[in-house]
Amino acid sequence: MKHVIIILLFLYTTIGSVSAQRPVANQIKTSKGMLTIQPIFHGSLVLTWDKKTIYVDPYGGAKAYAGLATPELILITDIHPDHLDSATLSAIETTKTTFIVPQAVADKLPAKYKSKVVVLNNGKNTVQQGISISAIPMYNLPESPDSKHTKGRGNGYVINLGGKIVYISGDTEDIPEMRSLKNIDIAFVCMNKPYTMDINQASSAVLEFRPAIVYPYHYRGKDGLSDIEEFKKLVNAGNTTIDVRLRNWYPDYSK
Ligand code: ZN
Repeated sequence: MKHVIIILLFLYTTIGSVSAQRPVANQIKTSKGMLTIQPIFHGSLVLTWDKKTIYVDPYGGAKAYAGLATPELILITDIHPDHLDSATLSAIETTKTTFIVPQAVADKLPAKYKSKVVVLNNGKNTVQQGISISAIPMYNLPESPDSKHTKGRGNGYVINLGGKIVYISGDTEDIPEMRSLKNIDIAFVCMNKPYTMDINQASSAVLEFRPAIVYPYHYRGKDGLSDIEEFKKLVNAGNTTIDVRLRNWYPDYSK
């Protein structure tokens, strides 16, 4: 008995220490069990639903993913190293993984992943593992050939998980394609200048497409973190029913 207690204590402290830095996961009821939402780092998150695990833009190093289930799907939004991070990818077990990526990412993925890739470009959709995934544009405004994110290169994604519609913005400004989204249950919206948009653009867009839940994510810019508390105030000043969920997307995984 004493040994069992010691082992349990050991497991508690080790598992606790692995997951301690990660933001708390949320669970949301769907038509087929719970959807678990695990924020990871910057633009990366892990979704688990119907015994399937989806990694979005794995980034932040191996420790950020320690102890999580290996992915059936990896979705990558763009070619920049905070989204297509070969070092983090190589630390993830991908033998059973299908990658959903835009053509520009497929062109840059290490050769060892080529056989696992499904290319999905803006406006297209696919069903993988029973999960419907649509690619949505993501780009900077005004559109220009030398902008950080040109239209058509990267993907935002809309995913249907047991009737819950999840939108992942990728790196974008408040484009019409975002503003005209309908029936989004859970949205992940970027806000970091000068790469994407500021909190005024982001809150204005969110007030227009009215997701039930929004997580500000990808909010570390050139001059530090965007004011996500203020983002929440702006959203709720315009609509008190939108559930703005603030999480720390920048834990220190090196400890
Ligand atoms: Zn980015």
